[in-house]
Formats: sequence, structure tokens, C-alpha cells
Amino acid sequence: MQNDRIISLRTKIDEIDSELVSLIKNRLEITNEMVGLKTQSGRDILDSGREQIVLDTVMSQFENRVDKSIIEKIFKYLFSLSKTKQSYFPKFKSAGDKIYYAIKQKPIIIAGPCAVESEEQINSIADSLSTQGIKILRGGAFKPRTSPHSFQGLGHEGLELLNSAAKKRGMLVLSEILDSKQLDSSYDLIDIIQIGSRSMSSYGLLKEVGKKTAQDKKPILLKRGFSSTLREYLLSAQYLTEHGNENIILCLRGIRTFEQSDSKLRFTPDLASILELKELTVGNDYPIIFDPSHSTGNSKYINLTAKAALSLGADGLIIETHNQPESALSDKDQAILPEEISDIMDFANTLLS
Ligand code: PEP
Ligand code: MN
Repeated sequence: MQNDRIISLRTKIDEIDSELVSLIKNRLEITNEMVGLKTQSGRDILDSGREQIVLDTVMSQFENRVDKSIIEKIFKYLFSLSKTKQSYFPKFKSAGDKIYYAIKQKPIIIAGPCAVESEEQINSIADSLSTQGIKILRGGAFKPRTSPHSFQGLGHEGLELLNSAAKKRGMLVLSEILDSKQLDSSYDLIDIIQIGSRSMSSYGLLKEVGKKTAQDKKPILLKRGFSSTLREYLLSAQYLTEHGNENIILCLRGIRTFEQSDSKLRFTPDLASILELKELTVGNDYPIIFDPSHSTGNSKYINLTAKAALSLGADGLIIETHNQPESALSDKDQAILPEEISDIMDFANTLLS
């Protein structure tokens, strides 16, 4: 009889323990996210005042019916568990290093419109993306358009709209600059500087960006020139790293081949280059991301191309999204709705985390 009772109590304890484990796991996930956010925004990771508040609250919830020192021990142990994780974070030497560290948490998913068009447009897109857990908002303000008669972007005003939409939601800002004047005027509004495909071989601009970011090591996303070999591409990256900023993200975005003479693909997706670029950059450890939007130019192909890139080992993606794709002012044929990212996000999370 007694024996039966002991067995049944043990079963209950096992159930409680398993609930405790899942609660502790939950807690750790939250403290890890908190560390990431504090790192991004440059705040101190440890806060002993806050620990005391948590302890006081917990004690009052036990209504003094337990030995305080035991509960303190349990909770201090929980705090130290999250600190153990925190202590894996390197000591960052610059603001850019902190951002780069946060960006490199895989999968790296960057999304947003080709161009910022209005306050309403960018906020609607940012809203949907941030609720899906996307942490980096892209948006062009200075657009490199093939025709001088096409929409050129909203310029500085566009960047301000992008920055405010992102910061309201704790997101990082990625935007392209085309010349050194834009680099200076927009520097404080951008967390990650994009150098586009057409500028990959603008060696003057690469030198300027390398010099300007030498101190704070602001991360740079360098896209592959659509007519460049991988070795030319990596030499361009060296123009940036020359002055000491190694915080580079490489982005394959499709190349021009004979295929464009009669195919509907805007470029030829350079998918297998992910494999080769990984080999060529061993030791540099630059994240390599893929752009399914520009490489295909067709919204129908984004989902599978994105998944193919991730399957080939890409560390992430940059995807153009628009709240009203059919009326986008630039690259409308390749724009998908922000909500369409969620399936790709699920795939990326399963594969990469
Ligand atoms: C862009 O990302 O908006 C863009 C113009 O890309 P790319 O330089 O790859 O054409
Ligand atoms: Mn575009």
C-alpha cells in the first residue's frame, strides 16, 4: 500500500520536474533574447539591481513560508545559468562589432521593400516583418536605377522614415549608399551599409567606406557585381577590410549570363557559388547570404530559390517585400507580401538554428 503511494508520488514529482525543465528552458530563451537586445542597443548585460527586485518579488510570493536562503540559492543559480550563457559573449571593442555579432546569429533574414516610398508603406511592412521575428529592415533611399527616368528613391527623407520605422520596433537598418556624400550624410541613420552590385567595383567608394568605418567597424553588406568573378568579388571585399573593418556580409544576388537573352529570369541565380564562396572564405568567416529577389526578378520563384540557397549552406537571405506588390514603385515583379516570408522563416529556423 505504502509502496503504491510512493510510486504515485514519484510519478507526480517527475511530472513537476518536467514542467520545471520546460519553464527553465523558457526562461533561458528569454534571457538569451534579452542579452541579444541589450547587445544590439549597447546596454550593459548585467543588472544586479534587477536581480534583487526579482528575488524580493519571489520571496513575497512564497509568503515567508520557506527558508529564504534556499530560495535565494535556487534563484541565484538560475541567474548564474543565464550569466554562463552571457559570458560566452565576447567583449566588444566597437559599436560595429556588437551589431555584427547580433547580425551573425543565424538565420540572418533581412527583409523590406526595394525602396522606401512613404511613411505608411514602410511602417506597414516593418510591422508585419517584426511580428514575424525579423530583426533587420532593408529599404532603399538612394536607388541605383538603370533608367534615370525611373523612381530614384526618397533620398534622405526616405532614410529617416526607414530608421524611425525600424527603431520603433527594435530592428536594425540596412540601406544602400551610392557615393561618399550619401555615406557621410546618412551614416548615423544606417546600422548596416549596403554596397550594391553596381558599386562592387567602384573602388573609390569602397576605399571611402573602408576608411569611414575603420573606427566604429560598422558592418557592410557587399553584394556581388553581376558580372564579377568570385575572386574579383573577394578583392573588392579586401578594399573594405584594408583599413581594419572585417565586419563584412557577402551577398550573392544573381549574375548575368546568356540566359537573359530569352529567359524570364532577371539574372541567373548563382546558387552553387554559395558552396565555392564558403571554401574561398574559410578563415574569414564572413556570413554569406543570398538574394532570391534580384537573382530571379520574379515573385513566383522567391520561395523555392530562397529555400534552395539555405539548403546549399547560405547563412541567410535578403528578400524584397511590399505591402502592395502590384503598385511598388521599383522592382514590383519580384516583390512578395511580408506575410509570405513566414514559410521561408520556418524553413530557415528549422535548418539553421
Ligand atoms: C537592392 O538591393 O535594392 C539592389 C539594388 O540590389 P542589387 O545591387 O543586387 O541590384
Ligand atoms: Mn530592388
